Amino acid sequence: MNIYLDIDGVLVGSRSPREDVIKLIRYILEHYPNNTYWLTTHCKGGVNRCIEWLKQNDFPVDLVDEMAKAIRPTDWGVLKTDAIDMDQDFIWFDDSLFEAEKKTLEAYYVMDGFYWMDPKDPEAAKKALEFLKSH
Ligand SMILES: [Mg+2]
Repeated sequence: MNIYLDIDGVLVGSRSPREDVIKLIRYILEHYPNNTYWLTTHCKGGVNRCIEWLKQNDFPVDLVDEMAKAIRPTDWGVLKTDAIDMDQDFIWFDDSLFEAEKKTLEAYYVMDGFYWMDPKDPEAAKKALEFLKSH
C-alpha cells in the first residue's frame, strides 16, 4: 500500500499538537518506508521543497533527515490525483480535495483511499494514526 502525504493543513498549520503529528510521521516511516510519497504543493512540477519547508517549521532535524531519505517525491501539475498510482492500494492524507480530484477518485472507485484531515480538529493527527493502525 502507498501513502501520500500533504503537508500544509496536515503536518504544518493544523491544530493537532506537534507531538501527535510526529507520532503519525514516525509510524508512517516505520511501516511504509518504501511506499510513502509527498503530495503537496511543496513538491510539484519537478521541484521538491518539502524538507526546507519542514525545517523552517521547526520539525526535529533527525526526523526531517529520515523523511528526506524515505519519502519519495511526486511530480504533478494541476491535480494531485495525477501523481497517484491508481493500480495500488493507497491512503492519501490531505486537508482538501478539489472537485476534479474527487471525480477522478470516484471514476477509479478509490474514494475510500482519501483520508480527510481537518486542520481545525486538534485530534486530527491522532485520529489519522488510529485509522492507519487499524488499516
Ligand atoms: Mg493542504
